Amino acid sequence: MQIKKQLVEICHKIHAKGFVAATDGNISVRIDENKILCTPTSLPKEKIRISDLIVISLDGNVISGNKKPSTEFKMHLAIYKNREDVNAVIHAHPVYATAFASSKLALDIPFLPEVILSIGKVPVCTYATPSTDEVVKSILPFVKKTNLLLLQNHGVVTFGKNLEEAYYLLEKLEHTAKIFSIAMTFNGVRPLTKNQILKLYQINETNYKISQKNKITFKEKGKLN
Ligand SMILES: [Zn+2]
Repeated sequence: MQIKKQLVEICHKIHAKGFVAATDGNISVRIDENKILCTPTSLPKEKIRISDLIVISLDGNVISGNKKPSTEFKMHLAIYKNREDVNAVIHAHPVYATAFASSKLALDIPFLPEVILSIGKVPVCTYATPSTDEVVKSILPFVKKTNLLLLQNHGVVTFGKNLEEAYYLLEKLEHTAKIFSIAMTFNGVRPLTKNQILKLYQINETNYKISQKNKITFKEKGKLN
């Protein structure tokens, strides 16, 4: 019941924050080895209640619930199958991060120290027709390397050990994309230098418990305009 309540709260939150519009997006959480709890299709996230949630198996069969799951759950299932450490997945269409994805731009410029240490670079997955197996194919090359993905011309996916972690990654991703976009309209984005990044990684090793997979080596790039 606690997990159901938390899932519903996050549905309402992603709508209130503007990370989805209308019936966009879907959220799931792993409840045991073979089952996930997920949001139904065609229902605005702000209106979702506990009774709307569905339980599906990792094979995609509905176990309980009166509504239909979204066809986008293929993507969620692929993530759970490839990442034993992942227990929650959020798919949303936040404005700035989706704008990056629509320009086929990865968020891979090392410009904010905290972002370098916490989320690393965020890749963009090649465009795939939503709800098809193409989406699964497009995310697989990155699923084991990161917990954040941009989906070209579509949106984003974040995942973590629990719903809270997946939600905060989504919030962080959108915040970073927004700062980047605004800086570009001012005087361009100035990436940190290689030395500045190395110093950060040293702090990371002693003060932060960030997993190895997030310790992405950024290439030094010139100022972007
Ligand atoms: Zn979508």
